[in-house]
Amino acid sequence: MEKRQPRQPACLTVKDNIAVTPHMRRITVTGDALKAYPDIDTTAYVKLLFDFDGNPLSVPPASLQDAQLRTYTIRQLDRSNGTMDIDMALHGEGVASGPASHWAKSAAPGDQICVGGPGSSKGLADSFDWVLFAGDMTSLPAISTYLEKLGPQTQGYAVIKVTTADDIQPLEKPAGVNVIWVTGANSLADEVASLSWLPGTPAAWVACEFSDMRGLRQLLAKERRIPHDQLYISSYWREGRSEDQHKVDKRKDMEEYEAGA
Ligand SMILES: Cc1cc2nc3c(=O)[nH]c(=O)nc-3n(C[C@H](O)[C@H](O)[C@H](O)COP(=O)(O)OP(=O)(O)OC[C@H]3O[C@@H](n4cnc5c(N)ncnc54)[C@H](O)[C@@H]3O)c2cc1C
Repeated sequence: MEKRQPRQPACLTVKDNIAVTPHMRRITVTGDALKAYPDIDTTAYVKLLFDFDGNPLSVPPASLQDAQLRTYTIRQLDRSNGTMDIDMALHGEGVASGPASHWAKSAAPGDQICVGGPGSSKGLADSFDWVLFAGDMTSLPAISTYLEKLGPQTQGYAVIKVTTADDIQPLEKPAGVNVIWVTGANSLADEVASLSWLPGTPAAWVACEFSDMRGLRQLLAKERRIPHDQLYISSYWREGRSEDQHKVDKRKDMEEYEAGA
């Protein structure tokens, strides 16, 4: 993605809100600001802005400190028409369970929301013999886009934990990438540990809940010794913690991990 100066949050209008599966809504937003977005890569994300009562902001705040920020992957961006899709996992009930999930359930055409970004994080390594994706409903948007873009000869696995079996989605993917849907209580690390390791160098891309991330980091970085530049691993949320709290936990965990690595 082109490097740009941070841009002001833009106020966008909801165009559509459809159910992808029972626990996933696809929200399409529209606005002229999207026509000026830079080229984005697969992991590009935006920040949805809410006030401290959990209401979506319809006017940009004076400072980002005056808002609650919630991070969502751009599932699709159409710059010529100024539209963007984001796929939002649903969890819990009511605004207290999380402003973003609550908003995703009820957002209707014409509703407004301020959006910051876009930003981007490290992606899948460019060269590999095979790929390994591991994630859950929160990283399914990014994993889906990766699978759509991979060359037809690509081999590997995508291990994806979903809320219920009804949340399994049809994915466009190379025939040689085996998708394993996890619907029970098994950890992602246990599921990945049970795969037959393929020959050659993998590129692994992992994003999921914090505890799952730690289990997978132990497995992939320490036990399977995937080199640092072949491995992206991140937590996208943490059970029992809001995004703001999770950000603090994540920073502390990374410092401790790097100190002990
Ligand atoms: C780079 C990045 C990209 C992301 N992309 C997406 C995306 O495309 N789609 C998507 O759905 N999410 C995505 N996420 C995750 C999303 O930002 C978090 O799940 C966020 O915490 C949701 O905000 P909230 O307001 O609903 O809940 P919060 O107010 O943050 O949390 C309230 C409570 O809900 C719980 N909670 C939060 N998320 C979940 C969940 N998924 N399942 C169960 N409980 C949860 C928390 O543990 C907490 O107890 C992404 C995160 C990152 C860092």
